[in-house]
Amino acid sequence: GETSDSFAIEESLKELAQLADTAGLMVVGSTYQKLASPNPRTYIGSGKVAEIKSAIRAFEVETVIFDDELSPGQLRNLEKAFGGDVRVCDRTALILDIFNQRAATHEAALQVALAQMEYQLPRLTKMWTHLERQAGGKVKGMGEKQIEVDKRILRTQIGVLKKELESVRKHRKQYRNRRFSVPVPVVSLVGYTNAGKSTLLNQLTGANVLSEDRLFATLDPTTRRVQMKNGSEFLLTDTVGFIQKLPTTLVAAFRATLEEISESSLLVHVVDISHPLAEQQIDAVEKVLAELDVSEIPKLMVWNKVDKVTDPEKIKLEAERREDIVCISALTGEGLLEFCTAVQEKLKDSMVPVEAFVP
Ligand code: GDP
Repeated sequence: GETSDSFAIEESLKELAQLADTAGLMVVGSTYQKLASPNPRTYIGSGKVAEIKSAIRAFEVETVIFDDELSPGQLRNLEKAFGGDVRVCDRTALILDIFNQRAATHEAALQVALAQMEYQLPRLTKMWTHLERQAGGKVKGMGEKQIEVDKRILRTQIGVLKKELESVRKHRKQYRNRRFSVPVPVVSLVGYTNAGKSTLLNQLTGANVLSEDRLFATLDPTTRRVQMKNGSEFLLTDTVGFIQKLPTTLVAAFRATLEEISESSLLVHVVDISHPLAEQQIDAVEKVLAELDVSEIPKLMVWNKVDKVTDPEKIKLEAERREDIVCISALTGEGLLEFCTAVQEKLKDSMVPVEAFVP
């Protein structure tokens, strides 16, 4: 990226390495290059191609992942340059791989399949146009016809998937409405992947949610009941995590998984305050929340991983200065009681008193 500074690039590559790790790959190294604009044939320059090629030999590399979307042509040229066995993919394909691995429910699987088809649709066209060009225009009519056929098939499949997704969602909604007849408020955890949402959920509920240093440990919404010593309780639900550089093709699938938060009584925004880009991440989450029609729902912010920051006192003072922020460490348990108390206070504020219904 020519406009980003080195720091942002390195952060993005760090996230990409975490994603690769999540996909089950072992990362041996990363590199980047500043160009005025990406090379149309190979994305990177020829010198960089040679450099990566020697690294491939030295480390017996099987996969090379690019942090941006590659055109089908760039992908082919890079694979050719690196040698037959090396797989070249881009960030989107990597995330789709992870979605595939992690999709545990029918709904998530449908969402992933949909995202994959939508990823394929434009590439289909480019692939055929490329073949046409290779054939020197001789197959022009045929190629166009084939694109139309393939596109129609894909669009039909997309339509079928969307209908199925709709019906699955309706059933989940019915289930949720039933759940709402029990007067237990629902609290949703939102925030970036790796912010510590599932660790927090585990600490509070003893629920057996995946919690590991992996992105997307919680692709599917998971709900647990939190019971407090004073008798009050709430349902805590985890949501799919944000990604710094979410490819545009995956935005719809990502948002769909976030939709359910519109029915919660409270949104808890979990932040990894030890992250160098914490402020930017906060802004990004708030921007998406603002677009999700959840402005009426009260919010509470949690600054997690205070055990990891260099100056915890400074962070705590800053949290006090702003409003509605609780500092915690989901790992050590610091601040968890304060967190629960803050949740209760927020829920009290937002709920209509029972007396109001007495005639
Ligand atoms: P999620 O993707 O938001 O659900 O994040 P996880 O709960 O999976 O946490 C991601 C990583 O951060 C894991 O390696 C956790 O052990 C670690 N982590 C979570 N909370 C804390 C914390 O308070 N302090 C520290 N040092 N690490 C934490």
